[in-house]
Amino acid sequence: MDQSARRRTHAVTVGTVQIGGGAPVVVQSMTSTDTADVAATTRQVLELALAGSELVRVTVNLPEAAAAVPEIRARLDDAGCAVPLIGDFHYNGHTLLRDFPACARALAKYRINPGNVGHGAKRDEQFATICRIAADNGKPVRIGVNAGSLNAELVAAKMAENADRGLGRSSGEVINECMVISALSSTDLALASGLGADRIVISCKLSQPAELIAVYRDLAARTEQPLHLGLTEAGMGIKGLVWSASAIGILLHEGIGDTIRVSLTPRPGGDRRDEVIAACELLQALGLRSFAPSVTSCPGCGRTTSTTFQALAERIEGYVRERMPEWKRRHAGVETMRLAVMGCVVNGPGESRAANIGISLPGTGEAPSCPVFVDGEKFTTLKGSYDELAVAFTALVEDYVATRYPSAEPGDGR
Ligand code: SF4
Repeated sequence: MDQSARRRTHAVTVGTVQIGGGAPVVVQSMTSTDTADVAATTRQVLELALAGSELVRVTVNLPEAAAAVPEIRARLDDAGCAVPLIGDFHYNGHTLLRDFPACARALAKYRINPGNVGHGAKRDEQFATICRIAADNGKPVRIGVNAGSLNAELVAAKMAENADRGLGRSSGEVINECMVISALSSTDLALASGLGADRIVISCKLSQPAELIAVYRDLAARTEQPLHLGLTEAGMGIKGLVWSASAIGILLHEGIGDTIRVSLTPRPGGDRRDEVIAACELLQALGLRSFAPSVTSCPGCGRTTSTTFQALAERIEGYVRERMPEWKRRHAGVETMRLAVMGCVVNGPGESRAANIGISLPGTGEAPSCPVFVDGEKFTTLKGSYDELAVAFTALVEDYVATRYPSAEPGDGR
């Protein structure tokens, strides 16, 4: 894996978290609550942070939202949650940050969309105001260019140049170039406004994976600033997951990207934490980070018509997620553990042996017994109903965690 792009970048410190400069890729997410609703926003930030989000962005769109930010910060601190808060500003960031200095202080980073800070001469002036407030408060900014709100004047100029000079470039190519130009010229303006290079993160978000990949490759070749990576408006469910993972995964594998957000559209009433879990799984799949033990399970086929192994795999995944906050606190290294729950004798014993602890359930017509392997060796055989199997296997997992990742706390030997 070519990690050179990631190693080349400046390091930017956001509260307690470092982005770039060779630091591990950081997971971030964004709340969907009305920021002015302090209780709901605090609750969701806590949920996202507990799920693994290392930075959480909140929209700061109105005076009421800006006024709420210090109280949200205070409640998070009271709850023992140090996750840095990022303010997302559009149109009026320069006035909100000026009029609500406590908000400017409580936020750990400001996100500015250079396409949404004003028009003409006011655009640069208002952008520079935000940068100066950031510099005065010792805060970094993210220059967050978005294809959906690209600087219209820049696009019009580049389209005209393309036509006048007969360059023959597609409108998509022109827009991609404008994304990069907007990000780099805004970076120059931020530097000229007094922000250091160690206080600027850049993103250029598009909704098409192939275009995102092209733009970020270009960007990574032309700047040393840390890059925030994400496919914007990725969509819902499987589509959003696959499109995000394909684009972000390719770039991360090339060493491009220092912090990621997976922008999923939740189902009505859906769980916002899904985007955090997706980001963690993506980094873990690429071997870049370890957040929680992984569960290997087969897709099932005609060799196992029973649904027991599917139910057990789901139950073990849920169990691991539920236990992880405590395991993480007490058992260093547990996040690298690999579990396997397999459906029949074809690949079951092999995958179970390759895991730290694995169970192979019987396929159709096989003897009703479930060999369990620990660290590559046959350890025991379980039998019984689904519930009995689940209870016995989770007990073996608990024993394995306690013995393989001993607690650092004296007298804490669970
Ligand atoms: S392990 Fe067995 S049940 Fe699972 S997919 Fe392979 S052949 Fe099918």
